[in-house]
Amino acid sequence: MSTGTEQSKAWFDRAKAAIPGGVNSPVRAFNSVGGTPRFMVRGEGPHLWDADGNRYVDLVSSWGPMILGHAHPAVVEAAREAATSGLSFGTPTIGEVELAEEIIGRVEPVERVRLVNSGTEATMSAIRLARGFTGRAKIVKFAGCYHGHVDALLAQAGSGVATLGLPTSPGVTGAQAADTIVLPYNDLDVVRQSFVDNPDAIAAVITEAAAGNMGAVAPDEGFNAGLLEIAHEHGALLVMDEVMTGFRVSRAGWFGLEGVAGDLYTFGKVMSGGLPAAAFGGRADIMAKLAPGGPVYQAGTLSGNPVAVATGLATLRAADQAVYAALDANAKRLGNLFRLALSEAGVANSVQYAGNLVSVFFGEPTVRDYAGAQASETWRFPPFFHALLDGGVYAPPSAYEAWFVNAAMDDEAFSVIEAALPAAAQAAAGAVQ
Ligand code: PLP
Repeated sequence: MSTGTEQSKAWFDRAKAAIPGGVNSPVRAFNSVGGTPRFMVRGEGPHLWDADGNRYVDLVSSWGPMILGHAHPAVVEAAREAATSGLSFGTPTIGEVELAEEIIGRVEPVERVRLVNSGTEATMSAIRLARGFTGRAKIVKFAGCYHGHVDALLAQAGSGVATLGLPTSPGVTGAQAADTIVLPYNDLDVVRQSFVDNPDAIAAVITEAAAGNMGAVAPDEGFNAGLLEIAHEHGALLVMDEVMTGFRVSRAGWFGLEGVAGDLYTFGKVMSGGLPAAAFGGRADIMAKLAPGGPVYQAGTLSGNPVAVATGLATLRAADQAVYAALDANAKRLGNLFRLALSEAGVANSVQYAGNLVSVFFGEPTVRDYAGAQASETWRFPPFFHALLDGGVYAPPSAYEAWFVNAAMDDEAFSVIEAALPAAAQAAAGAVQ
């Protein structure tokens, strides 16, 4: 199936001479799986094509945003139309209002929204606002949850930090990390104890509404509700990070599935349609503390960029119930194929879902937290990944990431996955630690 990787290899060599590690975001580099990252030149529907002309069924979907598949006609047309009217004005625009209203209309606890450029910016700003609103400094986060590369939130983070096995990052000062309390996911007792140990000091608990950055690890029933109750009992806020789950797992994100109302929310990925846009929002009384109405400063030259807003709006408007039904069905179909192929090859596995985020952990136990994810047989992942890649399936190049389906996946795309899986499962079975 593969027509070679010479072009990707050549571009990667050239990239490494110009860009640290040859990539602009670490997990793209294949460090944990080995081999040459593929340089993609085109995407359409469920497929990507690399610089050597290889076609892949894409199970990364740009790490989440592309729920409709690549180059969806309505989204491309929205971008074209917006771009021809001017790329950036640095003034208020109509599209920003419409996108904010669309988000508010979908996620009930969100009464006001501020647009930013990345999920990192959204969580950084939400944390600042939570601190400004409560007058407190400390933040509780959970091991294995990733909230972007915000200094204070990098400790025991998931995603690339987990993939590269980093405890935290040099460059984050003791002062920046000192106010971060890292606790195990899905354990309310330690959260309760932490509030007792830090009286009147914790501004907020930030959690991925459902964890997707240590693989798909859904919150235990009652976990998010418990967080809300404990935080409020102690005068703190709950920040629901829905950058990954927002507008993907349902039209109202994880909130739509569970109904636990956070005080603040962060969004990105899907609401951007694939261009750089993100948002944070929540209760009107908290959001009122933001400049210019309030004293908590937050700003951005390109925030609410007209082209990014147009693609985000077009994506959300196209994401109807049929799209969400397709995402759910595709995630289940993918998970079932994993299970079948791995079981036939005699590989113990735990296929897990958080809504329509799906991932496969090697080994039997259900993974409930970061320690569980780290204890899984991650060494089986690289040969599994490469066999899929050779079979024309582009998987996330890390054992610690969720897999992102899109609504454009059709029977032909699934037949490619189905054909590639037996060899991948055999490769996982034959892996040595
Ligand atoms: N929060 C979560 C839950 C994420 O998954 C991510 C990125 O994957 C971020 C925040 C950071 O978003 P960005 O990469 O746009 O900065």
